[in-house]
Amino acid sequence: LPPDSRVGYAVVGLGHLALEEVLPALSSCEKSKLTALVSGSPEKMKKVAAQYGIKPESCYSYETYDQLKNNQEVDVIYIILPNALHKEYVVRGAKAGKHILCEKPMAVSSKECKEMIAACNAAKVKLMVAYRIQYQPHNRKLRELLQNKTFGAPKLIEASNSQSSANPAHWRHKKTLAGGGALPDIGLYCLNTNRFILGEEPTEVFAYQYSTPGNPLFTEVEELMSWQMRFPSGVIASCATDYNVHESRRYRVLCEKGWLNMDKAYAYKGQKLSTARAEGKMERQEEIGLSETNQFAAEMDHFSDCILKNKRPFTPGEEGLQDHILMEAIYESARTGKPVKL
Ligand code: NDP
Repeated sequence: LPPDSRVGYAVVGLGHLALEEVLPALSSCEKSKLTALVSGSPEKMKKVAAQYGIKPESCYSYETYDQLKNNQEVDVIYIILPNALHKEYVVRGAKAGKHILCEKPMAVSSKECKEMIAACNAAKVKLMVAYRIQYQPHNRKLRELLQNKTFGAPKLIEASNSQSSANPAHWRHKKTLAGGGALPDIGLYCLNTNRFILGEEPTEVFAYQYSTPGNPLFTEVEELMSWQMRFPSGVIASCATDYNVHESRRYRVLCEKGWLNMDKAYAYKGQKLSTARAEGKMERQEEIGLSETNQFAAEMDHFSDCILKNKRPFTPGEEGLQDHILMEAIYESARTGKPVKL
């Protein structure tokens, strides 16, 4: 689309994700453009505004945020704040009459998610949760192969998303700002991607949780969560996440007649999809090459397309709510030592 017809975005919170991924991705979008900034750091915002050609009158603080209402160049507000602030800024943004794109995890509880959905419905604005993996070509291809039963029925999934953290002072390690530890931050990718590729909802979960005693990173939030999900088709997914191990972002789906494997599954780029098919007593392995696209640009252009054509986004608020309901069941199971039915 020509720049004049593109959907205008206000980006809220100029942290790592916004500065390193989202703002550069907006420059490569076809249907979306950056039109405003919101930050609590005026000096940083001034530099960013100069870099991306944003007018001083389109730069807002958290106090002047509600004035976005009067900015005709802004159609969408993209919330990229610490998790516990998502609800307030989504509700205020909806009241300002703007469509909302909200980072994952959607909030810090299912109760908050319901309030956010209600606020967007009341204001008649669209709400989308930024589940970028659902817009990523390799993961979409795997979903297609799975749902077409190309390798027979899926039976088991092994998934892990783990990394090493170092800074106990960061908001990710504070319960009040993060809501939880590895599970809502990175384990969420295993949860959400399993639901996405299978196209069904878990009916039962069972979980173990662990934090290394005395490690200051984990005095408030969990280090490790390992859980199983049982799906109506019979598939069992075993998932794990840890904030204190070398990076591992992968999953494998074991099917009747082969398997599908995704390396770097939840990374910003570099996904590698490989498959194995049983052929008599032999197996044939194949790597499925697909061209890389910028996931963040694909995700924002999808939302813009929904706004231009008045369609429901592929990952609406209800998608975030469902993950919070499941995460609450996972924490309950870890706490009680018993499976939790949904
Ligand atoms: P950062 O800590 O790097 O940035 C958060 C920004 O929020 C800060 O820079 C600050 O911006 C603003 N902010 C406002 N109030 C506070 C506060 N009380 N404490 C800290 N920051 C505050 O976080 P990330 O960018 O890594 O994460 C932001 C959100 O994006 C999270 O919800 C996270 O889960 C999600 N995320 C999603 C990813 C994805 O792949 N989809 C990847 C990484 C993160 P300012 O100075 O401008 O006010």
